[in-house]
Amino acid sequence: MREKYAKALQVETLHTIEEELNMSVGNGIECIFCAIVNKQIKANIVLESDGVVAFHDINKAAPIHLLIIPKEHVANLNDASIDNSSILGEMLLTARELAFQFGLNESGYRVAMNTGRDAGQTVFHLHMHLLGGRHFSWPPG
Ligand code: 5GP
Ligand code: ZN
Repeated sequence: MREKYAKALQVETLHTIEEELNMSVGNGIECIFCAIVNKQIKANIVLESDGVVAFHDINKAAPIHLLIIPKEHVANLNDASIDNSSILGEMLLTARELAFQFGLNESGYRVAMNTGRDAGQTVFHLHMHLLGGRHFSWPPG
């Protein structure tokens, strides 16, 4: 059905309202995570570099739940390219650094990047979850 409407509208895909909202702010204006980067809204920031910001998730899914985001607005992994390799590497190494800082390196932790509808992405500014402090089952639900 979605494909039929997409064809009628001569667009490649139809998106959820959330995706549309986030795409309409693809330049970063009015994006909640861009607003955190620009200090327009408050977040409990634990680390900041030239390229990334890390802060506590507002709705934590584990005793330690941090989000690591690039300062530059990229909607998700689908929109990443070779130009983003360095920031993607920095995000991963930031997760590692924070895992040590928060004492998760021995007990273990999970890093996750939700991309698109099936993964339940709700904020369309690239972010990495760092979760720890409890056992996580596998495969995820
Ligand atoms: P997603 O579901 O897109 O992978 O993850 C988005 C995450 O951002 C969620 O875990 C959600 O709790 C968190 N989040 C959404 N809005 C805010 C906010 O304004 N501040 C903070 N600190 N976290 C947020
Ligand atoms: Zn953004």
